[in-house]
Amino acid sequence: MDVIRLLPDSVANQIAAGEVIQRPASCLKELVENSLDAGARAIRVLVRDAGKTLIQVIDDGSGMSVSDARMAFERHATSKIREAQDLFHLRTMGFRGEALPSICAVAQVTMHTRRQQDEIGTLLEINGSQVQTQEPCQCAAGTSIQVKNLFFNVPARRRFLKSDQTELRNLITTFQHIVLVYPEVAFTFASDDEVIYDLPVGTFKQRIEGVFGKSKNKLITSQLLEIKQQTELVTIHGYVGKPEAASKQAQQFFFVNGRYMRHPYFHKAVLQAYTGMLPAEQLPPYFIYFDIAPESIDVNVHPTKTEIKFADEQSIFPILSATVRAALGKFNIVPSIDFLGGDIEIPVSDTQMRANAKVPQIHVTEGYNPFTRHRSITEQGERVSPHWQDLYEPLRHQQTAPEAPHYPEPADEPRDESAYIDHPQALAGGYIACVADEGLMLVHARRAHITILYYQLVSQLQNRQGVSQQLLFAEQLTISADEQPVLEALLPDLRYIGFELERVSSTQYDITALPSVLGNNNAEASLRAILSRVGEGDANIQQDIQQRIALTLAQSAAIPMGKPLSEAEMRDILSRLFALPSYRITPDGKTVVTWLSAEEIARRF
Ligand code: ADP
Ligand code: MG
Repeated sequence: MDVIRLLPDSVANQIAAGEVIQRPASCLKELVENSLDAGARAIRVLVRDAGKTLIQVIDDGSGMSVSDARMAFERHATSKIREAQDLFHLRTMGFRGEALPSICAVAQVTMHTRRQQDEIGTLLEINGSQVQTQEPCQCAAGTSIQVKNLFFNVPARRRFLKSDQTELRNLITTFQHIVLVYPEVAFTFASDDEVIYDLPVGTFKQRIEGVFGKSKNKLITSQLLEIKQQTELVTIHGYVGKPEAASKQAQQFFFVNGRYMRHPYFHKAVLQAYTGMLPAEQLPPYFIYFDIAPESIDVNVHPTKTEIKFADEQSIFPILSATVRAALGKFNIVPSIDFLGGDIEIPVSDTQMRANAKVPQIHVTEGYNPFTRHRSITEQGERVSPHWQDLYEPLRHQQTAPEAPHYPEPADEPRDESAYIDHPQALAGGYIACVADEGLMLVHARRAHITILYYQLVSQLQNRQGVSQQLLFAEQLTISADEQPVLEALLPDLRYIGFELERVSSTQYDITALPSVLGNNNAEASLRAILSRVGEGDANIQQDIQQRIALTLAQSAAIPMGKPLSEAEMRDILSRLFALPSYRITPDGKTVVTWLSAEEIARRF
């Protein structure tokens, strides 16, 4: 006897629904996307019991004819694509013709729909794929769909839903992802009769304000900077936060062609633009929109998936990073010069944009000379290359970085750091306390040392003047086959900084010399650390690689936390530290120095 038979549609739909409709939020997403695809200018969302009892979406879009209304609930029925080729030019949100049949397989659905040109609309009631009613009705132009008792016929799924609070949060997040892309469409969202959002038509910035301007962790839109970049490959626009807007839970959104997406790789590109500007664990808010030819991204993945593959991610990374950096630079938050002076080539088509993207002017405070006040650098015989100023310049602007929480931002900088150098006191745990008439300064000794070494190493790398030290006995470095190309690519930089490596086999190298800052040890461990840090995904920009190498080596070579220091050592650290035009935070954003001015001390009593 034959055993294979076709499943009835209702069962097939229920199985498919498991994929497309997982929770009230996925249902909401499908319905609102349909309304947008139908050209709606105003969309109202109503939910009850976090969508478990009711999700209703009302739009003023195209509406449907009598037969389309019926067809819409058939599997693979769609008005949006006709042939496979269309999949590669998608400009609509939906295209699978799966949403409505999936929803009606697992809920009780009522739809009213009318086209502008029709006098009478259509009412359709479907329960678990069974059409109950189809009749003419009086209704407004557009479409209203009510989805009641989601998963009423799939108890296991219904039990699987989270608490109302969680499901409502999911609904709101989904709603936010959509409304942030369509400021030209008005939206409302009401939960159990309480209006949560009422968003009129406006600009992108007004929409961001409408969504986040009133929340508990209020986003202040005056702290946002506009970004804009048009290249042949991609158009980028949106807003990024000034460093002062950074927080632990910053609002961060990427969108591509009108769709929310997650993109950890591009996230890194944005963060890279903020290098040295943010304190540890603080993130900038951003709302970044990409427009790109539909054929160069792949959205034809799982319907609930938010990660989108770009054909040309590697080229977009530096464009994005430079665009954000230019915005920060234009507003004088950083000089818009690349960190080490190396320019990133941006394929720009628009000349105006080009002018905006590269503004290689450095704002230098008149009369400021980092070397006249602090003789220590030259006393120690270090070469002051013409690049020193470029190198340090970005860091001077980091002084806006917030201080450690218990020490309020001082009103002004200590006027003369050298006053603090004279009688340093070691505090338990690895801190240096320095007292002067002006106040009290506390320094994190290890971080201070890391910062000093970092700049020394970056300069050596840039000038190709690393000081190396021969090893009496070569140390062996064994690497894996996939690390080998990374290491080969790094060899020139490693040589500039003082490493000498001899290739024994494709996975074996002899280390014959190492940078003298490392002392006699740590050669292999430091190389491993460099390999893994450089291998962290996105390091294909030369200056970034050099910074990573310098930071890794500085961390390997710096004194360990808590190491007892002699007075002479402390003085040496302080004088070198204060010779840096900015010394308050490490290159990776951690606090090095905090201080209490005399006035601040007086205020405390
Ligand atoms: P898809 O959006 O992938 O085409 P759906 O199952 O979500 O598939 O919708 C099926 C069809 O129903 C759509 O192609 C569209 O023609 C029609 N439709 C759905 N919702 C609406 C709406 N709110 N207004 C007008 N037409 C709609
Ligand atoms: Mg759809």
